[in-house]
Amino acid sequence: MKVIVVGSSHGGYEAVRELLMDEPDTEIQWYEKGDFISFLSCGMQLYLEGYVKNVNDVSYASEEEMQAKGVSVFVEQEITAINPDKHTVHVVNHRDGSERDETYDKLILSSGAVPATLPVEGNDLKNIYAMRGRDWAIKLKQKTVDPDVHNVVIVGSGYIGIEAAEAFANAGMHVTVIDVLPRMLDTYLDKEFTDILTEEMEKNNITAAPSQNIQRFEGKDGKVEKVVTDQATYDADLVVVAAGIKPNTQWLDGTLELTTGGLIKIDDYLQTSAPDVYAVGDATLVKFAPTDGTEARIALATNARRQGRFAAKNALGHQKAAPSVSGSSALALFDYNFASTGIKEGTASNYGVDTMSTLVTDSYRPPFVPEKHGNAKVYFKLTYDPDTTRILGAQIMSKEDVTQNMNVISLAIQEKLTLEDLAYADFFFQPDFDRPWSILNVGAQQALRDVKNR
Ligand SMILES: Cc1cc2nc3c(=O)[nH]c(=O)nc-3n(C[C@H](O)[C@H](O)[C@H](O)COP(=O)(O)OP(=O)(O)OC[C@H]3O[C@@H](n4cnc5c(N)ncnc54)[C@H](O)[C@@H]3O)c2cc1C
Repeated sequence: MKVIVVGSSHGGYEAVRELLMDEPDTEIQWYEKGDFISFLSCGMQLYLEGYVKNVNDVSYASEEEMQAKGVSVFVEQEITAINPDKHTVHVVNHRDGSERDETYDKLILSSGAVPATLPVEGNDLKNIYAMRGRDWAIKLKQKTVDPDVHNVVIVGSGYIGIEAAEAFANAGMHVTVIDVLPRMLDTYLDKEFTDILTEEMEKNNITAAPSQNIQRFEGKDGKVEKVVTDQATYDADLVVVAAGIKPNTQWLDGTLELTTGGLIKIDDYLQTSAPDVYAVGDATLVKFAPTDGTEARIALATNARRQGRFAAKNALGHQKAAPSVSGSSALALFDYNFASTGIKEGTASNYGVDTMSTLVTDSYRPPFVPEKHGNAKVYFKLTYDPDTTRILGAQIMSKEDVTQNMNVISLAIQEKLTLEDLAYADFFFQPDFDRPWSILNVGAQQALRDVKNR
């Protein structure tokens, strides 16, 4: 059996891994149009801040390592077209300009996404950057030590924009984060959390500029100098646009069925509209567990990896539906660690569900443990269906690292657990780690009272 895998990031890498684990004799051809395989944008902030010194270390696999495992790795070779009837792909080799067709028995696509550009005047000026992939990582790193960069404007206050903001603030620059949404990190957290985090940003030389629309970029000598919004003008020696992504699928238009937004349509088994062609990762939709598997766009490495595994299993002849996901994510911002999963109060209406939410605060460890020995306030918000008390989502934040609790909630969502299940669930206690009642118990117990009194 010959399997071709397109794209070497999370989805592609995981598909190759699963093929090697399940059927090591499979003939695997792995294609990457860039000049490096398996770069992980998730590790980019660690590189920008100097914790990882070599950009090439921000990766899970090397060409040599994968070749040694019997995988034929083709770097700087782009798949530009598929012929599903003939079971062939067209390959363009960017190193020597040659072209050829390759046959496949099964084809797995993880062509991912690229940063969206803003359709405004001046968007082609120099020093307007994006933050995704190895090439941008290298360029951004140079800017963190560029003495001419004093003011950095980040467009977009999602996880990527916030990572960029922290990296440049830590490099000593003044940073402004502009977002069209009313709050920083609005997609991930409710107001109780974003208010505190916005204060934390301001304390660290980052100006939050929410509810603003970019009108244009202005420049001098071809370089960006100002960002003009509908409310203000900001000085900028560097702009990082982190305002969403668009799927890397133009080359598939007319061959595979795509959504209106250009995502590849797949079924529960990751199968596209063409036989023997599977697709995974940021170029696809996932099934959202809180709404029992309705489709959602949640671009996360975790999702790409799960899908990659299941696509490979199915390509090998199994018939395994990819599990639904809750969209769990975590991030640190200066002194705070936070995480969220599933639905929150602010996104409930997008999913058409009626929810109630309960916020509790507690100390991480018993009150007698001093802060300097690892105690801190914990904020925990639980979102649920008030009629059935089914758990639908949660958010957590603290100066200590309590983020793993969201993995428990993610599983609770997947398993359709209720507040009653969580309220007295058995979680360990030891003063080095938590309190006699876990914050998860405390939140669910309070939520049950809130439901009763509503
Ligand atoms: C700064 C940053 C931080 C992030 N942090 C996290 C995190 O902490 N946790 C998390 O879960 N997610 C995180 N993500 C999201 C995560 O990186 C993506 O969800 C994930 O990379 C998607 O993987 P993918 O395989 O779908 O596609 P991509 O990562 O987009 O990769 C697609 C690859 O395919 C190649 N390719 C495309 N078309 C072709 C073709 N026709 N022929 C050959 N090669 C092709 C591309 O060059 C690219 O290398 C982060 C993203 C960014 C940008």
